[in-house]
Order: sequence, then C-alpha cells, then structure tokens
Amino acid sequence: MEKKENISFPPWYDGENQKPENISVEVLNEIIEGAFHRIAGEYPEYQSRKDQIEMSKNILASLMNESVYIVEAGTGIGKSFAYLIAIIAYSYLTDERVIVTTETKNLQMQIFRKDIPSLKSLLGVDLAFELALGSSNYYCRLRHDEAFVEGKFRDLVSESELERYNTWTKEVNENKIHGHIFDMEKPFPEDFWKFIGRDPDGCPANKCLHFNYCNYYRAKAAWNNSKIIIANHHLFLYNLFNEKRTLPPYSAVVFDEAHGLIQSGQSILTHRFSTETIREVSRKFESRIKKSLPQEAYEEWSENWKNLESVWHVFFSSWEVQLSLNFEENSRKIIFEKQNIDTKECLFLLEKICDNIAELVIDEKDSGTLNALNGILKAVKKAMLFFTYYQHMNFEKMVYWGEKIHSRFYLFVCNLNLGDELSPLMTEGQVWTSATIGYWPFDKRPRDKADLLRGGYFRDFMSEAFGQSPESDMGMDFKTDYFESPFNYARQSVMYIPAHLSAPEWGASGGAKELYERNLMEEVLELIKLSGGGALVLFTSNYLLNHAGMIIKEQLNLPVFSQLEFGADLALKKFKETPNSVLLGTNSYWQGIDVTGKQLRSLIITKMMFTPPGDPLLQARSKILEKKNENPFMKISLPRSCLMLKQAFGRLIRSETDTGFVAILDSRLLHKNYGKRMLANLPDIPLVKTLADLKSVIKKNSLI
Ligand code: SF4
Repeated sequence: MEKKENISFPPWYDGENQKPENISVEVLNEIIEGAFHRIAGEYPEYQSRKDQIEMSKNILASLMNESVYIVEAGTGIGKSFAYLIAIIAYSYLTDERVIVTTETKNLQMQIFRKDIPSLKSLLGVDLAFELALGSSNYYCRLRHDEAFVEGKFRDLVSESELERYNTWTKEVNENKIHGHIFDMEKPFPEDFWKFIGRDPDGCPANKCLHFNYCNYYRAKAAWNNSKIIIANHHLFLYNLFNEKRTLPPYSAVVFDEAHGLIQSGQSILTHRFSTETIREVSRKFESRIKKSLPQEAYEEWSENWKNLESVWHVFFSSWEVQLSLNFEENSRKIIFEKQNIDTKECLFLLEKICDNIAELVIDEKDSGTLNALNGILKAVKKAMLFFTYYQHMNFEKMVYWGEKIHSRFYLFVCNLNLGDELSPLMTEGQVWTSATIGYWPFDKRPRDKADLLRGGYFRDFMSEAFGQSPESDMGMDFKTDYFESPFNYARQSVMYIPAHLSAPEWGASGGAKELYERNLMEEVLELIKLSGGGALVLFTSNYLLNHAGMIIKEQLNLPVFSQLEFGADLALKKFKETPNSVLLGTNSYWQGIDVTGKQLRSLIITKMMFTPPGDPLLQARSKILEKKNENPFMKISLPRSCLMLKQAFGRLIRSETDTGFVAILDSRLLHKNYGKRMLANLPDIPLVKTLADLKSVIKKNSLI
C-alpha cells in the first residue's frame, strides 16, 4: 500500500497529525482506547470489556501492517464493534477502503442497518459506508421491459402483487430506494424475481439503454465512493475469482463468520452441467436470436448449435453409461479414473460458437439482443472451462463426479483445496474472525490460552483457508488469537447427555433404527415438557423433524413452528413472538440464529452432525489421506463435526442473563474416544447423564 504523507487522526482522538512512519503501536492503542472511552461516555449502559478492546487493538495493528490476524472470539465478546472500530480508525489513518464480509444475510444487515450507524453517531465520525449484494439481487429495468412485453407479469403474480410491484418500481425509478431485493418488507416470489433481477451474464452494461439510470450501476458507483463496504462471502469470493471486477479496490478485508467462507468458496468453485444445459441455453434465447439476426447468420447459428447439441449429448451419455452401473435415482458416483471419452469435439464447437458470438456482439446496438448474446457467450465460456477440466483430469487437485437428480444426469467438477486457489489472490491485510474457527485436537481441555494456541488449534482452518503451508507460500505475517466468551456457562447452563441413547450406525435400518427413533421421540417430549416450551430442537434429518412435529403437536399442547413447514425465516420469527413455543429445524438453525432471554431456554440436539460419507469432496480427500497413511475421519470429519456442534451449542446462551439446558441426545459423545475430543471443544459446564440429575441441577441453579 502506498503510504500517505500525513496521517489524519479520527475525530475522537486528540493527537497531532504526523508522518506515517512516526505512528507507533502505542499511538494505535491509544486511538482504540479513545474510541471505547468515548462510547462509554456517550452510552452509559455500554459495558467495557478488556478482551474486546484488546481484540480491536490487534485488528488495527494487523490492518496497518497488512498482515493476517485469525481470531476466535467467543459469543458475547462484542467482536463486531471490535473490528468496526478498528476499521473506522484504519480508514481515517490510511484513507483506504475496507471490505467486511459475512456468511449470513442477518449479520450483513445488522452491520449495515444497526452497528455502523450506531458507531457513527457514538464516535461522531462521518464515513461513507455501503451495502453490497450479488448483482442478481438488484432490479433490472431492461429485464422488466422484456418481461412486460412478453406478458410474464400476468402469469406470475396476482393483481394485488402487481400493484405492490408497480408502487415499488416507481420508488426505485424515483431514486427513493436502492432497488434491491432487501429494500422491500415482503420480497416478491422467487419465480417472479428471476425475470426482473439483474442477469449478470446477459447485462450489456454501458451499451444498455437504461445504463445511465440503472440502479445496480448506481449502487456500484456508491461502493466506489465509500470507505467501508459490507458484503457477503459469496460476493467477495465471486469478485476474487473474477479478476476483482465487481467490487472496487480495497486494501484490507475482515471476514466475520469466517468458518463459512470455505463452504461458500467450494460452492463457487463447483461447476455443474447436465445433458440438457446446452438445449436450455438455446431455448432461452432462441426467439430473440431469430428475431435479431439476418437470415443467413441465423442459419449458420442454428447449424452450429445443432452440431453442438448432438456432440454434447454423446459426451454426457458416454459418462452416464460409464457411471450408471446400478445407478439409482438421486445417487452419485465419484470419478476416480480418467476414461476414454472425447472432449475435443465439444471444445472445438464451443470455441467456434464463442468466436461467432464475439463477432456479433461488436456491432450489435440493440440492448435486448446484446443481453441475449452476452448471456449465451457467458454460458459457452463456462462450458468451455468445464470441458477443459474434463480434458485434463487431475485427481490430486480436483474432484469429479456424476449425479442423477430428478431423472437428469449431471457431471460436476470442484477444486479440492480451496486455500490453494484463494491464497494467491489475497495479498491485503486480512482479519478472519468467528465464534468457532478452531479445533482442539486432544481429549483433555487446554490448560490456558497459551496452551491452546500452541496446540494446533487453528491448524485445520489455516490449511483449508490458505493451502498447505501458508507462511512460506504467502510471505505474510500471521497471528492467531483466542478470546473466551465472557459468559459463565457453568452457572448459566447445564449439559445433559443420556448415556442410554445412541444413534445407530450410518445406514442402519429395521428394528434397531425403529427402537432408536422411538426412544429419541420419548426423550424429546420429556425435555420439552421439562422446559415448558421455549425449546429449539435440532435435527439432522427431515424425516425425523416431521415425525417429531406431529408427535409434539399431538401430545403437548404447545405451539410448534417447523422450518420445513414455515420456511426458516418465518418459523424463527413466529418462535420469537410466541411464548413457550417449540422451534424445529435442520441445518440452517445449527448456526447464525440469535434468540435471547427466556424465549429459548432449552436446546435439544438430537444427533451429532457428520458430513455424509458419500460427500464427493470428503471421499476424494479421504482417498488422498489414506495414500499417506492418515486417518480421514480424524483429519476431516471429526473437526468439521466438532465445529458444527460448537455452533449449535452456541444457540442457547446469547447474553449474560440467559439460562437453560443443552441436551445432546447422542451417547457417542460419552462412549467413543472421539466423543471425548468433541466434549473438550465445548465450554466447560456441568454434565449430567440422567433426567433426574438434569431436573435437580435445573432446580438448584434456577435455570428455567
Ligand atoms: S445496465 Fe444491466 S442491470 Fe442495468 S438495466 Fe441495463 S441490463 Fe439491467
């Protein structure tokens, strides 16, 4: 980063401007202390926390040094304020832009709507900040026009919805609102939005007739004028893997909920194509192309597509035959060996079509036709990349698999090591933070923080996020840190693990499974009765969730909200509003939800969550580890499962006054060796193994 001649101090700090080389760590620390002091003065209820201030100081120092800081901060530390204060100070001192990225929409909105505005007013700073969303979340005027002409609105929404839409678009067109999907209280249905949201592949940008008034490009201009951009992992990674063309330049990035970045990265780097992909692309744009191209050009176009469709079909069918031995519906097979299936012909035809479209795009003036041509060009380029991966199969770096979903055959390819892709692209100062990043690989708890940091707590995360040997490859400074949650888990809660209830082996069926499910349901009912509702029950299977929902409704007179019945957002909202209710959920409630107070007083985790053995990435990585005589379960599955359990566990105690119990209905935690490691990763709280003991601790400590 080019250093400024003189540094501007943030307004809350009473120091003289000085040369950047003169600014010491002590001065940086004073700036952070000054900010917290000011907040305490302005907002007397604010509780100053030593760890929060220390975390904020470390973040500022790390941003100023352009180094990497990986920090796990337990729930309740106040990590958002810690990094936001450091970012604000950093922006003043360097005049540079910082990106904050989150995993969940909830946190992204909270930072944008609540945290930064509060800090601006408490600290008396004037700093531009903006929300950045993926471009398909923005309303597109061109697509609106096309959908209108084709009469799509009438087919997709009711009269009253159409009226609401017209009022909303009027406000967007008058620049009263930003024109993205979160600008409305009740979002429009997805199958409607997909016709009016921006199509990133098709948008002709400055060749569009609406370009000067386009609200997506208006948002981009606002990003350019802001010092803090609040994005999400998906958008951040998309920008990174697309030559950084979406977001404006930045000099530092803070990843909150950093544990989720790996998953987002993997989903972005997964390429999937089906037998039907090419036919669908051609169908989508056929009428527009026919209308727009001269007869001769259209005939050439049709001929090329027809050839491509048949070669494409041969390629996919050959793989389907190779993989479909005993192939069942909705199953998948990993490809571990290269087959003699030709990719060259497909690649040749895709290239030919690509050149053809590139020529047409140069002279095209009509926005709608450009939109179609760009959309096809992007789809063709993606297909070319996909075929290149299949042409040069590399089983050390990539995983390939075939899958049959709803009678359609798909081929996939994904990078095995996200870190190897990520790290060369990230040379800025980076802060990685979350309440759960690390994994303690022993069955006895660490003695203290120093023991934890020495014991390889961040090793797995670092190798996933930065590749095999980050320090040597990147030449950047790394610092790791850990701040324990300020909550008194031992006083505020108790953990119950029934010694008799054990999940059957993976794939078990028949009597053992039925008995387990019956016992599980009885236990769930007893526990909900014990807390009188106010319960969050987490499942790993939709079937069991539905089954439990029916039984709870039948046998307990309590309101039940199921994620599968109401959708994740609505069920959670209803649970928060309804006293003594029960919330049932699968994956999406294991992390990221925040229910404080008596509304949530019992957390029931029905089973530990492990990555299914059929997961392609897990299988491919396991094979590589086995070749090195390493244990894939201990190296991959256990750390992941542990993080999920830690995340789920964190749903119960969200403030210093919350109390309640956590029940984990899976005795593998007690009986298996790996279970002890999982327990060593959870907060140190009283553990009971019978319902009678649970009742007695609850009574003694007034937990409910
Ligand atoms: S510039 Fe792109 S996003 Fe904007 S209105 Fe035109 S097509 Fe839509």
